[in-house]
Amino acid sequence: MTAPAHLAPGEPPTPRIGVLALQGDVREHLAALSRCGADAVPVRRPGELVDLDAIVLPGGESTTIDKLSVIFEVREPLIARLRAGMPAYGSCAGMIMLADRVLDGRPDQRSFGGLDVTVRRNAFGRQVDSFEDDLQLDGITGPAAPFHAIFIRAPWVEAAGPGVRVLGTAAGHPVAVETDTLLATSFHPEVGGDDRVHAYFVAKVRATLLAGLRAPAEDADRADGPVPAGR
Ligand code: GLN
Repeated sequence: MTAPAHLAPGEPPTPRIGVLALQGDVREHLAALSRCGADAVPVRRPGELVDLDAIVLPGGESTTIDKLSVIFEVREPLIARLRAGMPAYGSCAGMIMLADRVLDGRPDQRSFGGLDVTVRRNAFGRQVDSFEDDLQLDGITGPAAPFHAIFIRAPWVEAAGPGVRVLGTAAGHPVAVETDTLLATSFHPEVGGDDRVHAYFVAKVRATLLAGLRAPAEDADRADGPVPAGR
């Protein structure tokens, strides 16, 4: 695999991470990603997807993001990039958009999919539409410093496929999950000033890029021909 143009050989990769800017808290994600060392750019149009290393799907309203993605003609190319393995992080409505299956959605609501989970929309109920909780998140927090998570009409993960790891729970339900390339949280880490979830995602994207960049050198060392670039 050839290095993307913006990655100079030998330097730590600066991933170019898009934030889907159709609706929702786009600015906060852009700021958090920039603080974590990414080249963060808003994305609305299909052409803006082309040179991305990863994408963030922000919180907002999943039914609106669904509709606007069709109007802005970004739905199909984004699904194609996700199917091709582009790393993605979805928070709240973004988690719903990444989910393969959505419960309590509007009848005509569609997600982008890619993440083998069933999510329940607005799962925490009307009486606690918004709440805060201190969470332990595997690989992200330590016992002395939980993550103060803000939930706003949040979904939870009702069921997860075998390839999905649960990183954290609230009220007994998974609220942070990942695969090798995808990350999703029910809560909004872009508000509150704690960048650990974004830093975790940027590191995940870097690791994906490094795996791609390392492959040719590994291939060259082998006498018995090329091996697939394991992702
Ligand atoms: N309840 C919203 C939805 O269904 C998500 C809320 C949020 O992103 N804060 O999309």
